[in-house]
Amino acid sequence: MHEIRIAEDLSAIVLETAKREKLSKVTKVNISFGVLVQIVPDIFIFAFSETVRNTIAQDAEVNIEIVSVKMICKKCGNDFGVEENRFVCANCRSTDLEIIHGKELFIKSIEGE
Ligand SMILES: [Zn+2]
Repeated sequence: MHEIRIAEDLSAIVLETAKREKLSKVTKVNISFGVLVQIVPDIFIFAFSETVRNTIAQDAEVNIEIVSVKMICKKCGNDFGVEENRFVCANCRSTDLEIIHGKELFIKSIEGE
C-alpha cells in the first residue's frame, strides 16, 4: 500500500504549488507514474482524496498517466520497450541495461482558479 505514502507526498506538493500560484481552488491534477512504480490507480485516487480532504484540492479531478518501461542496452546501445518484465536486450541478449522510462513519479500539471 505505498499508494498512501505517495499520495501524501504528492498532495503536499500540490498544495504547496497551489499556494505559490495563489490558487483558491485546485480543479485538476495530472500525474505521471512509471509502470515500475506499481501504482494501483483506484487506490491512489482514493488515498489522494483522503489526504486532500478539507483543503483547496479536495474537489480536484485526478488524472493518472502510466508511462511504460523503456530501457537502453549498455552493451549495444539498443533502446526498447519492455513488456511482461523481460529485462533482457532484444538485440544482443545482454542484461546490462539502464532504465530510461518507467520509474517516473511526478506531477505533470495542476489546474486551478
Ligand atoms: Zn544489447
